Amino acid sequence: MNKPDILVIEDDNAVANLIAATLETQDYRYKRASTGAGGVMEALSMKPDVVLLDLGLPDMDGVDVIRKIRSWSNMPIIVVSARSEDFDKVSALDAGADDYLTKPFSVDELLARLRVALRRVRYDGSKLGDESSVYENGELKIDYAAGCVFLRGEEIHLTPIEYKLLCLLARNTGKVLTHNYILKEVWGSPSASDVPSLRVFMATLRKKLERDSAHPEFIQTHIGIGYRMLRRSCRRGDSQENLE
Ligand code: CA
Repeated sequence: MNKPDILVIEDDNAVANLIAATLETQDYRYKRASTGAGGVMEALSMKPDVVLLDLGLPDMDGVDVIRKIRSWSNMPIIVVSARSEDFDKVSALDAGADDYLTKPFSVDELLARLRVALRRVRYDGSKLGDESSVYENGELKIDYAAGCVFLRGEEIHLTPIEYKLLCLLARNTGKVLTHNYILKEVWGSPSASDVPSLRVFMATLRKKLERDSAHPEFIQTHIGIGYRMLRRSCRRGDSQENLE
């Protein structure tokens, strides 16, 4: 496989150097941009496999960089930010970012997030031209045409809302979906007051999916932010995602 191309948009030299050194250990190719406008230009010309984006840039807000890139590309964007407030992460995810890292982060964390994002690229790519209406992720299978869900070979019965939630997470495997986004997609009207009921539906869905709610195999919770469907490997019990 070709080495992935990573675009690093970061104005802090120390952080950009750390990221660059980390990417070099994996032989990943990368380019650096230190402004939002420069980053958008590089994203257009180099068409990277993944963008690592700082939210606090000198010329524009990182969230606007996400919106610009999303207007023409679905390339994975991982937000790397010093801001620890959930609000910024949520705005970035709602604007279309895939994932986030909070500074200071470890090298292992950065590489794990990159692997998840790169798998999404490969997964999306392999789906092109594939008319199959079956989703498979480890031991979870969704037959969209029949509206059936199978877990470890057995059909499980979901309510219509649980099924919609599961399909939404499955279509966005690897990506963190915010509460707002999920509420909008499933119920059509996002309101912060609906988050508690989303939690209830999520809890019943997970009860049907997860063997051990403390160590979820499929649906990962991001407290105060949202949920993510983890990509599982095909081999039984062997997780490809090891983030927490
Ligand atoms: Ca910055």
